[in-house]
Amino acid sequence: MNTAPHELLRQLPSVDEVLRLPEMLHLAETAGQSALTRSVREVLQTLRAEIGNGTVSEKTLPAAMDGIAEAVRQHVLRATDHSLRTLINATGVVLHTNLGRAPLSQNAVQRIAEVATGYCNLEFDLEQGKRGKRDIHLQKLFSTLLEGFAPYDPKTVVVNNCAAAVLVSLNSLAEGGEVIVSRGELVEIGGSFRVPDVMAKSQAILREVGTTNRTRIFDYENAITGNTKLLLRVHRSNFAIVGFTEQPTLQELVELGQRRGIPVMEDLGNGALLDLRSVGVEGEGGVTESLRAGVDLITYSGDKLLGGPQAGMITGRPELVTKVRHNPLFRALRADKLTYAALEATLLDYLRGDHAAIPAIHMMKLSAEEIGARAEQVMNAVTKNPRLKSQLIDGESVIGGGTTPQAVIPTRLLALTVKDLSAFELQRALRKLEPAIIARVDEGRVLLDLRTVFPAQDAQLAAALLLL
Ligand SMILES: *Cc1c(COP(=O)(O)O)cnc(C)c1O
Repeated sequence: MNTAPHELLRQLPSVDEVLRLPEMLHLAETAGQSALTRSVREVLQTLRAEIGNGTVSEKTLPAAMDGIAEAVRQHVLRATDHSLRTLINATGVVLHTNLGRAPLSQNAVQRIAEVATGYCNLEFDLEQGKRGKRDIHLQKLFSTLLEGFAPYDPKTVVVNNCAAAVLVSLNSLAEGGEVIVSRGELVEIGGSFRVPDVMAKSQAILREVGTTNRTRIFDYENAITGNTKLLLRVHRSNFAIVGFTEQPTLQELVELGQRRGIPVMEDLGNGALLDLRSVGVEGEGGVTESLRAGVDLITYSGDKLLGGPQAGMITGRPELVTKVRHNPLFRALRADKLTYAALEATLLDYLRGDHAAIPAIHMMKLSAEEIGARAEQVMNAVTKNPRLKSQLIDGESVIGGGTTPQAVIPTRLLALTVKDLSAFELQRALRKLEPAIIARVDEGRVLLDLRTVFPAQDAQLAAALLLL
């Protein structure tokens, strides 16, 4: 005769009884008593539910009871694991928003550690011995780096990210007034940054001109009214318009703005401080080119092509930047000391001309031959896995991070197939590893691009592939 479920339930230990098991002592130390208690409760609850629905019977109950300590151990490990995990980016997308964009330079990391673990003069004037302003810290560095490019002396301030920079700039310069934008630039950037929505929140009025593919300078000029506060150019960060297209140059916009007394703002997004032609990418002028064109205010990200921490820069004419600084939103959107620390270190890398110190830039500069040689080593190391078929092929790395999709660099790819697994199953299996390996799939194969894999991770990658 079968024992009734309520009889079985009575045999289960109490939470306290489980907590008194010798195995729990160590877990309480590593995970903390409250997390452990929660895990014990949940494991017992699951067991009760399994008895209730018949999954655990009189016959299997003893084994299930013996397994309680191990089940608790696994549960509490999962519950106290980091949600934010490091991984291997084998996608070849150098600035991947979903994967945290730019990895920081060693100098930046070291500065974060130094500043984070102690006190600093974030808002303290050491000269005067009184309260100072945090936004002065990077002004000199930006001024030095950007000196001589603009027809004026540009000033730079920093907020939390580029979306914040756009919001506070529009609100400071155009609240209640009209901002003229081309219909071809009303973009949505990943993570729900939409130009019309940000514009609405900034309390500026969007005045769309032109068409999706063609906007001419007289479209802007015809739309100017007594209430026009800004001419806005938005970088088409994640798409391209090809074919029958037209867009006025920055110089034309600036010339119009000057003639009519209206500032020109550019949301540049990617914020390259380095000329990307040095990595073979055309048409991404970056910060200096916009300054050279005479744009009055530019907004750009810290963790895209600049290769630093998440931040939003506002560079432009001193009187416009001052307006931004005095906006209460500027205080609400301010960057923290760790951002300042990392950004300062990254800018110092630029100042020294040490571009190789900045991982994103270093990765962009790797040649297809260098990457191919490393991929070949990985390939040779995994030939011992009989289930795995690998091949080296030509391909393209994507810069990402607010450059157009056409911003690609030639690379060499490791193309993989595994017996009895589809490409998507293989991609998923790689993602399940610790650390997870993120790869692309194309034409039934998994593609690994070592451009974005740190050389120190090559061996780890090979070891993981051997075990597939
Ligand atoms: C990326 C981007 C943004 C948003 O930048 P965040 O730093 O992610 O806030 C805004 N505008 C443009 C044109 C961009 O490319």
